[in-house]
Amino acid sequence: MHRRPELIPTTFESFDSRMPSALGDRYLVKLFTGCRWTEGPAYFPAGRYLIFSDIPNDRILRYDELTGHTSVFQSPIGHHNGHSADRQGRLLSCEHGNRRVSRIEADGSTTVLADSYQGKRLNSPNDLVEKTDGSIWFTDPAYGIDSDYEGYAADSEIGACHVYRVVPGEQPVIVADDFDRPNGLAFSLDETKLYISDTGRNHMRVFDVDGDKLTGGEVFAECTNGCFDGFRLDGKGRIWTSAGDGVHVYHADGTLLGKLPVPEVVSNLTFGGPRRHDLFITATTSLYQFRMNVTGAPYPR
Ligand code: MG
Repeated sequence: MHRRPELIPTTFESFDSRMPSALGDRYLVKLFTGCRWTEGPAYFPAGRYLIFSDIPNDRILRYDELTGHTSVFQSPIGHHNGHSADRQGRLLSCEHGNRRVSRIEADGSTTVLADSYQGKRLNSPNDLVEKTDGSIWFTDPAYGIDSDYEGYAADSEIGACHVYRVVPGEQPVIVADDFDRPNGLAFSLDETKLYISDTGRNHMRVFDVDGDKLTGGEVFAECTNGCFDGFRLDGKGRIWTSAGDGVHVYHADGTLLGKLPVPEVVSNLTFGGPRRHDLFITATTSLYQFRMNVTGAPYPR
């Protein structure tokens, strides 16, 4: 049964001539609601569905864009947070509850990619992205062990919140150790830059990528409303990021180009649809869609 979604009027606010003001729809489509805190959208073009997390309710959901129906994909699952689709179409997951990074294989089994660093358990992996060399880069703040709301309260064994790189089958290595709460992350289209948000410091930083190492790390942007959580790049290298009042769009030079107001605090987003021009937004209790004349970076992202 196709469920008629709620339409919420909104208009993209452009602050810079490099960003068109008319980006597409003049409304958000509220695809699903009734969650406690949504995050982790990952779009699977081969199946035309989107996976996302409802962390406090310990479930991941699956939105089918052909039927418009959203259903529970797995619950309980281990308080998943961030997700990504890898280059073989597998689901990569950050698990608060099990304090690990994992992958669901083609046969449905789960492979643990990282759960400790030098014998100490990770805090609660938050978000991850795959590089074209097959390595997986992830952040490990403490939100999932701070309390029993988004995971299970516990002391940090590592005692700090770092950014890691892991090659499947090997041990993770630290690539950045000067964050308060590292959170969202995304590579530039040519993978020479890595953007990482720090929700503890309310800003986003940009690093130069040299193979498996990072250098630089200056502040790229300060969030003007709320904080940057997850984000993705469009096909022109612009950064579309979550914020307290909606989605903020930045040029690669750090200029805030515009905003898309959303009626709930935004946590994460990703581009989807067969033409990559649907912006899927996880915002507090709901999943929204905004169709545009802007396309996301090529899959997978
Ligand atoms: Mg996050």
